[in-house]
Amino acid sequence: MIKHLDFNTPAKGITAFTTERGEVNARNKYSAFNVCNYTGDDALHVLDCRMMLCMELGIDMDSLIMPHQTHSVRVAVIDDAYMRLDIDKQEAALEGVDALVTKLGDVCIGVNTADCVPIILADDKAGVIAAVHAGWRGTVAGIAEAAVKAMVKLGAKAQDIQAVMGPSICQECFEVGDEVVKEFEKAGFDTQAIVKRNEASGKAHIDLRKANEAVLAKAGIKSVNTRCECSKCSGKRYFSARALGVDSGRTFTAVIKK
Ligand SMILES: [Zn+2]
Repeated sequence: MIKHLDFNTPAKGITAFTTERGEVNARNKYSAFNVCNYTGDDALHVLDCRMMLCMELGIDMDSLIMPHQTHSVRVAVIDDAYMRLDIDKQEAALEGVDALVTKLGDVCIGVNTADCVPIILADDKAGVIAAVHAGWRGTVAGIAEAAVKAMVKLGAKAQDIQAVMGPSICQECFEVGDEVVKEFEKAGFDTQAIVKRNEASGKAHIDLRKANEAVLAKAGIKSVNTRCECSKCSGKRYFSARALGVDSGRTFTAVIKK
């Protein structure tokens, strides 16, 4: 169910991971393992999967935290004040949020993706961790940089933060319209470096991981592990919205500090 993600240098006391689908039933776009509750899956199935994950991690259900993502640049800090809120208020606090940051131990924070880039950040010296959901809109808007800023506010140092990316769409699979390329251009990205044209179709293909590496570099992060599998090429192992449609399960990429 869990596959560990490695930082370039091991981060002490910090575990980053991504979930794998498991045994897939081709007729069920939510099979087998899905903890995302807002993309159409059965609530009981989601609950079941969350319980299994919590058992595996050795944490309570209320220490498994994920936002309701909307391709925003909003970052939420999970602190003691958040943990004390009642469930309705916690839910409201994570509505329209695309990155989580925490200093708390034994709290698992993560994001749900199906082709977008999940990014885990950690400063093991300061004990600050983050999970970021970067689709192309969030990438253009600099969600990863916003998360780094929130980490620095909690005591992390940019030079001590490492990043690792989880399963996400590869450049080959990520064909986009020229209007998307324009958005990257407008935001100041080096499109020479991140856009390739398919020779036969003339269509643009964006390297979303490289684009996020650039966002992180701008935020002062040098150690970024971009080696990860393609969610679409490895569609049996991971969910892919391009392969399955948006009404499908999600891959959960998360981090926990012990
Ligand atoms: Zn691919």
